[in-house]
Amino acid sequence: CGIIGYIGTDRATDVILDGLSSLEYRGYDSAGIAINDRGLRIRKAKGRLSNLRDQIEECQFPEGHVGIGHTRWATHGEPSDVNSHPHLDEGRHIAVVHNGIIENFSELREELQAKGVHFASETDTEVIPNLMYQYYRQCGNAMEAIRLAAGDMRGSYALGVIFADDEERLYAVRKDSPLILGRGDGENFIASDIPAILPYTRDIYLLNDNEIAVLGRKTIEIYGAGGEKVEREIFHVHWDV
Ligand code: GLU
Repeated sequence: CGIIGYIGTDRATDVILDGLSSLEYRGYDSAGIAINDRGLRIRKAKGRLSNLRDQIEECQFPEGHVGIGHTRWATHGEPSDVNSHPHLDEGRHIAVVHNGIIENFSELREELQAKGVHFASETDTEVIPNLMYQYYRQCGNAMEAIRLAAGDMRGSYALGVIFADDEERLYAVRKDSPLILGRGDGENFIASDIPAILPYTRDIYLLNDNEIAVLGRKTIEIYGAGGEKVEREIFHVHWDV
């Protein structure tokens, strides 16, 4: 339902929890966060965002500077801690938050299970990081792995993706579900809706269907479904929420 992602120099957890609160008005049944701090650190909780905040405060959650967060509105699998996003591949190399529905998830899950992959949740989303990892293992290129996995998926999706072995990149891809990019000063953002990032920046890139964005602290690159680089004009937000 709600997505926010951050890469920069601030504590990613704080930016992400703030962003998720500003998306709460859309409704949700659970929430979660993944931070890359020398490996993927995950917290997720059914119910209110305050449950997630409490868990994070109790456990000295890491200081990392790149991460993704999600508020879920369940479509496949009941609201529960394990079905909350982010979802990881079995080997914990890739974390994904997802808005939308993967219509062919049961076929994809069967194909992955035939290769020996085990699933932890009942969601349609969990096939995504596992599919991406199959490609990543073959080609070693994160952008390409995302692009190839997206080519296998039918349905609607806005995705935020981080890789355990790269603290310098945050990825986004969408089809039939909204996702925008925010350009800051030495920090960049992804979000399902503009209010989540307005406290930080008013410079926005709109991501089109099937495009993939690669965000560093100081760079934003956008690629088309064929892997070709795309130029995009900045959109400046003048209004307030
Ligand atoms: N279909 C996914 C799920 O049920 C994503 C739901 C959403 O958009 O929040 O987990």
